[in-house]
Amino acid sequence: MLPWGGMPRGAWNKTPKTRRLAASRTTCSTPSAFQVIAKPCGAACNLSCDYCFYLSRERLYPGAGLRMSQDTLENYVRQHIEANCAPEVTFHWQGGEPTLMGLDFYRRAVELQRKYARPGTRILNTLQTNGTTLNGEWCGFFRENRFLVGVSLDGPRARHDAYRKGKGGGPTFDAVMAGIALLREHGVEWNVLTCVHAANADCRLEVYRFLRDEVRAFMVQFIPVVEPGAGGEGAASRSVTGPRYGRFLITVFDEWVRRDVGRVFVQIFDVALGVWLGLPSTLCVFSETCGDAPAMEHNGDLFSCDHFVDPGHKLGNIGQRHLGDLVASPRQRAFGEDKSRTLPRFCRQCSVRFVCNGGCPKDRSGTSPDGEPGLNVLCQGFRAFFTHIDRPMRIMAELLRKRRSPAEIMGIPHAGNLQPVP
Ligand code: SF4
Ligand code: SF4
Repeated sequence: MLPWGGMPRGAWNKTPKTRRLAASRTTCSTPSAFQVIAKPCGAACNLSCDYCFYLSRERLYPGAGLRMSQDTLENYVRQHIEANCAPEVTFHWQGGEPTLMGLDFYRRAVELQRKYARPGTRILNTLQTNGTTLNGEWCGFFRENRFLVGVSLDGPRARHDAYRKGKGGGPTFDAVMAGIALLREHGVEWNVLTCVHAANADCRLEVYRFLRDEVRAFMVQFIPVVEPGAGGEGAASRSVTGPRYGRFLITVFDEWVRRDVGRVFVQIFDVALGVWLGLPSTLCVFSETCGDAPAMEHNGDLFSCDHFVDPGHKLGNIGQRHLGDLVASPRQRAFGEDKSRTLPRFCRQCSVRFVCNGGCPKDRSGTSPDGEPGLNVLCQGFRAFFTHIDRPMRIMAELLRKRRSPAEIMGIPHAGNLQPVP
């Protein structure tokens, strides 16, 4: 499991449609759209990445087998479809390493989805994997059932192997690359999730060009690693600092906006463009409020978020209370609203608050310049990045409003200096 920001991985490339569907829902008692991060084998994983925040969750279920039962699977599939009354329902499978459940588990999941889907409902599946367990059979299944598969890869060999290790501490790069080759060979839709951390944050173009030119990734997510420091203060040594994260995003953006718009989809750029167009953010981290992506453990226990799987954030169990009711509960709504309610004054007065919204509450262990606690430890990076992209974003948004392609920005000289779009 990776320190990713919570919104379902792989779903962002479908955002315009999701947004329309969410807007059209008026009759559900549950939130207008919600996702569940399902963990059918809990924190169980065949790797032991140094920065993994989820491995320690195994302690929540001591002695348990960490495998979702057939009954819980059926309950989950049925309730998730019932609670999402949109014509498109997505299942997100994560871990730990979700392929440890074996292929038959997912064959059964797909059967159940067909059984419970309302006529006309489109069912989608995404699965986030470390890529090391894939073979032809898995890839054939993914292709046949149109799974969108996210693979975790932190850049070229040395950058990746710095923290992403096997159980014995050995490297994993070759096994991940072999998994990606299989996905490509079988025509599976896939994307890459790259954690930005102390070992790759300064290799900005090396990482991006590797993903673009050698891995030939079409969709990329960059997720900052922020581990709590001693006593919950600041951040631990593997973490990326705010300024380094900002420099990473700015350098990659400058390369992307000059030559890759429309060719490579980078999640944070895509989400930001939506906001510059006046749409709500589709990434929980940058939304005003959150709480629409709870995490579900192998036994049906539901928690407020992937990053808050702890007894204090347990909403209930889907075997006792319907998933839709748990997501719509006042407790979960309050969790989501706290994201905005607890913003420090420094954020409320910030010029890029409209797109940043203070970032994820799990990373707000910093202190603002005026001494108020609760500032995001990545603040400096967010502020630098979102300020830097303002002009090109305004150009691309204007192009889109004129029903033209944002890729036209690459033909506009000095696009960093805002000129009226010709
Ligand atoms: S706490 Fe909120 S913003 Fe952070 S990952 Fe969870 S849902 Fe997203
Ligand atoms: S850039 Fe910093 S001050 Fe501005 S909203 Fe984001 S976290 Fe808050």
